[in-house]
Amino acid sequence: MDTQTLWQVVLADLELQVSKAVFKTFLSQTKLLTLTDQTATIGCAQPLLINLIEKRYYQLIKKTLNTYTKTNAELVFAAMTPVAKKGADIKEPLFTIQHSMDSQVSNIRLNKEYTFENFAVSSSNQMAYAGATAVAKSPGVSYNPFFLYGGVGVGKTHLMQAAAHAILKNKPHTKLIYCTGEEFTNEIIEAIGNKTTGFFKRKYRRVNTLLIDDIQFIAGKNAVQEEFFHTFNSIQQAGGQVMLTSDRTPEEINKLEARLRSRFEGGLIIDIGPPDFELRTAILLIKAKQKNIDLPIDLAKLIATNIENPRKLEGVLIRVLTESQTRNIPIDKTLIESILGKSAHEAQQKNHVKPEEVVAAVASYFQIKLSQLKGGRRDRSYAFPRQILYYILRLELRMPLMDIGQFLGGRDHTTILYGVRKISELLSTDTKVRGDVLGIKSRLFG
Ligand code: ADP
Ligand code: MG
Repeated sequence: MDTQTLWQVVLADLELQVSKAVFKTFLSQTKLLTLTDQTATIGCAQPLLINLIEKRYYQLIKKTLNTYTKTNAELVFAAMTPVAKKGADIKEPLFTIQHSMDSQVSNIRLNKEYTFENFAVSSSNQMAYAGATAVAKSPGVSYNPFFLYGGVGVGKTHLMQAAAHAILKNKPHTKLIYCTGEEFTNEIIEAIGNKTTGFFKRKYRRVNTLLIDDIQFIAGKNAVQEEFFHTFNSIQQAGGQVMLTSDRTPEEINKLEARLRSRFEGGLIIDIGPPDFELRTAILLIKAKQKNIDLPIDLAKLIATNIENPRKLEGVLIRVLTESQTRNIPIDKTLIESILGKSAHEAQQKNHVKPEEVVAAVASYFQIKLSQLKGGRRDRSYAFPRQILYYILRLELRMPLMDIGQFLGGRDHTTILYGVRKISELLSTDTKVRGDVLGIKSRLFG
C-alpha cells in the first residue's frame, strides 16, 4: 500500500472514532507525507491547525496508524505549503474503502444487519439470492457484472450489502467500494469541477470489487456514464467484480448509453419480485428478532396480511414497539390492529396539524402562556400541561421522542418519555385528565 492509500484507510478509521466536526475540521486536513518504521511525518496545509492536532490527537492518530503498519512509529507534524490547485488536497476521500476491521464495516456505508443470514429466501428472490452468494463466494469469476433489478423494497440493497459483507469476511483485504449511483454521480461531477479526475481514476484502478446501488441514476448524464464505462472496464480487465442494482432492467433504463447497456447485458441479470405473504411474514420475524421483540407468528401474519411493502413492514414493527413501550402495554392483537387501522386513516387525518398548533391549543386550553408551556418551570400548573403536550405530539402527531425534545428547545427524550407514560397511565384512571385530552384533541382534530 502506498502512503496515500494507507492514509485514506487510516482516516476512514479515525472518522469512526471522533465526532463528525472534529474529523472534518482537523483530521481530514492531514496527509501522510513520509513513513518509516520509526517515524511518520504528517502534514497539514494550515500551520495553526498542526499544533492543535498534535496536542489533542497525537495518541489517537499514532495508535490508529500503527495498527495498520504494525510498527511503533512516532509522529512528526509538519506544515505543508498549500498547493496551487485549491481543493485538490483538502478534499475528503472520494469514497470510503472498506477493509478488514469490523468497526469499519459498521460505518455508514454498510448496514450491519444487511447480511445473508438475515435475508429470507422464497420463490420471488431465490435466483437473486443464489446469484449474490455465488458472486460473494468467488468475485470476478462467474457473473460479471451481476445486475439485480426490482421494485422498491424488494431487498436489492440488502442483498448487495450482504454480498459486500461476505466478500470482506472471506477476504478482509479486498478493496471494495460500495456506493449509490447518486453518490457516484456527485463525486464525479465534483471531481470534474475541481479538476481532480486523475485522483478519482487512480483510486478506482486499485479497487477490485465495485458495488453500485441504484445505477439507474447515472442515466442521461453523459460525463458520468463515460467515467463509469472506463472504471468498469479497468476493474473487469483486472479480474475484479462489478455488481449493480437498479429499479429497472438495463433495457428499460432510458438514456443509458448503448455500450453500457451491452456491458450490463453481458453479465448476469436477475430480478427480484415483490415478496409474497410467507416471505413478508419471515421478514417480519427476522426484523423482530433483531430488535429483540417477542413477536408471535400469528401477529406477524396479521401484519403481513395487511402490509405489502417490505419497507413499511419495518415501520409498522417500530411503531408497535414504541407504542407498547411508551404506553406500557403488551404487544398483542389489539395493539397491532389499532396500529394497522390507524396507519390507513391517520395519514390523511392528522398530517395537517402542526406541532406549533398543538402547543397553541394546549396553552389556550389551560390558559397559560406559550412561554410558560414551553419553559422549564416545574410548578404543577405548567408541568402537567407540558406532559399533555408531549403526549399529544407523540401519540397523535406521531413525532419521535427525540424530535419532540428538540422541537421544545433541546429537552431530553427521557423527560418526554416520562411525561407520555405518566399521561397514558392517568388516562386510564383519571376522568379529568381524559376530559382534558379529549377537549384539546377535539379543538385540534375536530
Ligand atoms: P430495495 O433496495 O430493493 O428498495 P431494501 O434492500 O432497502 O430494498 O429492503 C427494504 C427493507 O426490507 C430492508 O429493511 C430489508 O432488510 C428488508 N428486506 C427485503 N427483502 C428481505 C428479505 N428477503 N429478507 C429480509 N429482509 C428483507
Ligand atoms: Mg435500495
